Amino acid sequence: MFLDLDRFKLINDTLGHTIGDCLLQQVARRLSDTVRDGDVVARWGGDEFIILIPHLSHPQDIHALAERLLTVIDQVFEIDGNELFVTSSIGIAFFDDPDLNAETLIKRADIALYHVKEQGRNGYQLFELAMDNRAPELLTLEKDLRQALSRQEFQVLYQPRINLLDGSIDGMEALLRWHHPAMGMVSPGKFIPIAEDTGLILSIGKWVLQQACLQNKQWQEAGLPPIRVAVNLSPKQFRQSDLIQMIQSVLTETGLDPTYLELEITESVAIQDIQFTQNIFIQLSDMGVHLSIDDFGTGHSSLSRLQTLPINYLKIDKSFVQDLDSNQKVSHIIKTIVALGKNLGLKIVAEGVETEPQLDFLKSIECESAQGFFFYHPIAVDEATHLLQNHRNPLESIMVDQNLQEMA
Ligand code: C2E
Ligand code: MG
Ligand code: MG
Repeated sequence: MFLDLDRFKLINDTLGHTIGDCLLQQVARRLSDTVRDGDVVARWGGDEFIILIPHLSHPQDIHALAERLLTVIDQVFEIDGNELFVTSSIGIAFFDDPDLNAETLIKRADIALYHVKEQGRNGYQLFELAMDNRAPELLTLEKDLRQALSRQEFQVLYQPRINLLDGSIDGMEALLRWHHPAMGMVSPGKFIPIAEDTGLILSIGKWVLQQACLQNKQWQEAGLPPIRVAVNLSPKQFRQSDLIQMIQSVLTETGLDPTYLELEITESVAIQDIQFTQNIFIQLSDMGVHLSIDDFGTGHSSLSRLQTLPINYLKIDKSFVQDLDSNQKVSHIIKTIVALGKNLGLKIVAEGVETEPQLDFLKSIECESAQGFFFYHPIAVDEATHLLQNHRNPLESIMVDQNLQEMA
C-alpha cells in the first residue's frame, strides 16, 4: 500500500516544518498501531508511507484494512495546541505475479494512488492493469496546462446567484473552463488539483481574477445594474505571500470598486489556520472586498470556529442540498445552518439547487440566496450580459409558469 497525506504541504507551509514533522511522527505511530505484527510500515519520503502486508488470508481483507487506515488518519491530531485534520489517500497493488519486482510493485501502488488523488483524494484504489496508461496522460495534461494560458485555452463562465426574497440576480460566480485542443473540455475538478500541485494556479488564478473584475467593470460601464462577482481562491493562492498586493493591483488596473468583488475560500482552507485566515480576511474586508466560505459543512468545523472572521456569505455545500430529497435529517441540518448563520449576521447561499422542492424548502426556512442548475448553469459572457440586460425575475416567471399550468 502506498499512502500519501492529502495536502500535507499546506500544513508544512503554514504551520512550519516542526509541526509538520510532529504530524508525520504521529501518523507513523497510528499506522503502526493499526497494522499487525509482521506488517511493515515505512516512510518512503516526504509525506509518503509504504505499508507492506506479507500475509493476507483473503485478498478482500485489504478493503477493511484500507478503510481502517483512512479512518485512523482522519481523526483529529493535536500538536502544540493546534487541532489538525488531515485525510490520506492509498494506492494498493498485489504481488500476484511472480515476475513482479519490488520496483514495479511500488510503481503500481503509486499509479493506483494517483487515481485516488484524481478522484478527489481521501480514499483508496486497487491497481488495475488498465490503469497503466493513465499516469502518462496526467503528465501530458500537466505539460499542456503550462501552455494553456498563453494559448488562450481558458474561459471564464458565470453562474448567477439568485436572491430568494425578490428573485433578483445578486451576484455571479466566476467558474473556470479549459478547452484542451485534443481532449476537449477538461473540468476544473481535474485540472485545478494539477495547477495547485505545480504552482501554475498562481498565474491562472490571477488571470481569472483579472477577467472577472474587468468583465464586471464592463457590465457597470454598459449601465447594467451593479452586481458582485465571486472568484474562487485555491489553497495555494490563499497562502501566496503577495495575495493582498496582487488583489489590490488587479482592482486598480481594472478600476473595479472593491465592493463588487467577492472572494470564496473553502471551509477546510479557512479553518486550517484560523489566525492566518483572520489576518488575511481583515485586510481584504478593510479594502471593501466581500468574503464567502465555500463548500460549508464538509470541513469538520463549526460556525463558532468561523465566527471570528469577517465573512459576508456562507455557501452551503451542494451535497447537502442534493441529499434533501432522500434524507430527512439533512433538512434539519440546513435549517440549523441557516438559523445560526442569521444569528451571526451572515447571508446564506445554498449551492446546487436543481429542483423545485429543494427551492421551496429553502424559501420556507428563509435562506437568502441560491445557486444551481434549477436557475442557471454556468454561462458564457455573452449569455450573462444578455441575462443582465433582460433579467426577468426567475421566481416570478416560475410562479407564472405554475399558474399557467394550473389554469390549463
Ligand atoms: P465551487 O466553487 O463549489 O463551484 C460550484 C460548482 O458546482 C461548479 O462546478 C458548478 O458548475 C457546480 N454547480 C452549480 N450548480 C449546480 C447544480 O445545480 N448541480 C450540480 N451538480 N452542480 C452545480 P465547476 O465549475 O465544475 O467547478 C468545480 C470546482 O472547481 C469549484 O467548486 C471550485 O472549487 C473550482 N473552481 C472552478 N473555477 C475555479 C477558479 O477559477 N479558481 C479556483 N481556484 N477554483 C475554481
Ligand atoms: Mg465556489
Ligand atoms: Mg462550492
